[in-house]
Amino acid sequence: MSILENLQIVHHNIDRATRQWSRSNNDINLVAVSKHQPPEKIQEALNVGHRLFGENRVQEAHEHWANHKESGLYHDLKLHLIGPLQTNKIKDALELFDVIETVDREKLARKLGTAMTETGNSLPCFIQVNTGEEPQKSGIYPRDLPEFLNFCQNKCAMDIIGLMCIPPIDDPAALHFALLRKLAKEHSLRHLSMGMSEDYEDAIAHGATYVRVGTGIFGERNDT
Ligand SMILES: *Cc1c(COP(=O)(O)O)cnc(C)c1O
Repeated sequence: MSILENLQIVHHNIDRATRQWSRSNNDINLVAVSKHQPPEKIQEALNVGHRLFGENRVQEAHEHWANHKESGLYHDLKLHLIGPLQTNKIKDALELFDVIETVDREKLARKLGTAMTETGNSLPCFIQVNTGEEPQKSGIYPRDLPEFLNFCQNKCAMDIIGLMCIPPIDDPAALHFALLRKLAKEHSLRHLSMGMSEDYEDAIAHGATYVRVGTGIFGERNDT
């Protein structure tokens, strides 16, 4: 299958889910996750007009995207960081990305806030919530969210537009999507980044405004 065909299938599925769940199609943004994919596939996605992409590492994102961004050919190109951000990569991340989806700890929030104020480049951010409370996974525990959100907004002057989660592998994802939606609602946050290739329709049913689809668009990754 070509990237175009895959994109058409994903858009078709999104359309169907939005109709089924009475959502507006305009409210769903498809983040094409291009991590560990070859440059030819990325070029193909650009050629067929896709403009919103996600990467989980700053270094790889730079290799994939710096030239495309600088070329000026794709003025509406948008990049989301969907993986952990080390504080020593903040400067690079702010230069490359348009949205940071993975604000997940105080130290990062503090340094991001400072860097964004200093550079005058205040990116919209999501807080990553560890909905499954998995110790090995990044993200704020649900019970700590109110305090952390307050910290980001009022101490770090960050523009928090929503919440993001990666559900545990062996739990029904829907439980986590529902929890994330509840948390966003309680705090009047507009956006929900949730749902991947296997479950983005489910995520739409639960209010996702950004779905992150990798293999469903680009095929299997070179993960080794
Ligand atoms: C890799 C990745 C995705 C995409 O996963 P697929 O199963 O390939 O769709 C989505 N979100 C995050 C945070 C990822 O790291």
